[in-house]
Amino acid sequence: AQSEREILYKIHEVANTFFQENLWETEEGKTIALSYFKERELHDDIIKKFQLGYSPEKKNAFTEYALAKGYEKEILEKSGISIFPENSPSGIDRFRERVIFPIHSFSGRVLGFGARILKSNVKTAKYLNSPETEIYHKSNVLYGLNQSKQAISRENLCLLVEGYMDVISLHQSGIENVVASSGTALTTEQIKLIKRLTENVTILFDGDAAGIKASFRSIDMLLSEGMNIRVVLFPDGDDPDSFARKNPRDFVEDFIKNQAKDFIDFKAEILLKEANNDPIKKAEAIRDIVKSIGFVSNALKQEVYLKQVSTHFGLSEQSLFNELGVQKQVVQ
Ligand code: ATP
Ligand code: MN
Ligand code: MN
Ligand code: MN
Repeated sequence: AQSEREILYKIHEVANTFFQENLWETEEGKTIALSYFKERELHDDIIKKFQLGYSPEKKNAFTEYALAKGYEKEILEKSGISIFPENSPSGIDRFRERVIFPIHSFSGRVLGFGARILKSNVKTAKYLNSPETEIYHKSNVLYGLNQSKQAISRENLCLLVEGYMDVISLHQSGIENVVASSGTALTTEQIKLIKRLTENVTILFDGDAAGIKASFRSIDMLLSEGMNIRVVLFPDGDDPDSFARKNPRDFVEDFIKNQAKDFIDFKAEILLKEANNDPIKKAEAIRDIVKSIGFVSNALKQEVYLKQVSTHFGLSEQSLFNELGVQKQVVQ
């Protein structure tokens, strides 16, 4: 007999095909969803490469289809794609009237889905994702890894972005070494997946306050895993998707190369701007940077970074070294 996991994989495969057929082969899909992707300037080949789809407006379109195929309520509920509330025995679909982004494992199996509303004025979460299931653990998955793994190895560099559309847009521009953490804070498991391919990560987060905050968190996580990090900050209001659509490929590639800053310079720039010459805030900024250096496991690397901070702020290495010692005691 098939294991429950095997059946769950199969259901995701069936659902993935169902959503794609609804996008390409139904009037509803073509008029609502395909046109949405066209508005976002995605070409047919890239829509197919990422197996994007559409979940119809009908409240149990997929559930009805899967029940008719012989899948039982219990297993459909466990897949996270169907929900069976007490008062609705025919079940409802988790994703309705949304465009669908299948989430693949490293080796290309569909583990779950992300789903985006089509209109921005609707008062509901912009993105809905599969819940945790037996086969989908969001902290162990990176969106786009399956499509990007060869390019990441080849370039010996992984670009890390925030969202589904950032990954897809960059691929369309010919930049294929990119993955997204998809709205969750970057985890150790996710970093280990990258580390199988490269130790070099360039963070490309949105040019807004949320993006900066998320990048700071990711920097410390990546340093703890021994990764080499650079950071690119996009102009405020832009994310990699909008930027890649506005600019030609060569320009985007050069921008990423030329704007990529060492994490120390990146943090220093942001924090010093915030400090605005206030000496107390400036000291906090330095402490914040030294704290990040504390996450670096290699002692030699730590010393190199401390030298860099010392030059940047015109402080003695000794006092920075002392501060690092204090930070370490706090951590222990
Ligand atoms: P779009 O360009 O489609 O508007 P985005 O990817 O730029 O979306 P952001 O708001 O920058 O969206 O969010 C980044 C990522 O965070 C998304 O791609 C998605 O994975 C996740 N996310 C955003 N909003 C939500 C939400 N309401 N619930 C769950 N995840 C979300
Ligand atoms: Mn954002
Ligand atoms: Mn964004
Ligand atoms: Mn976006």
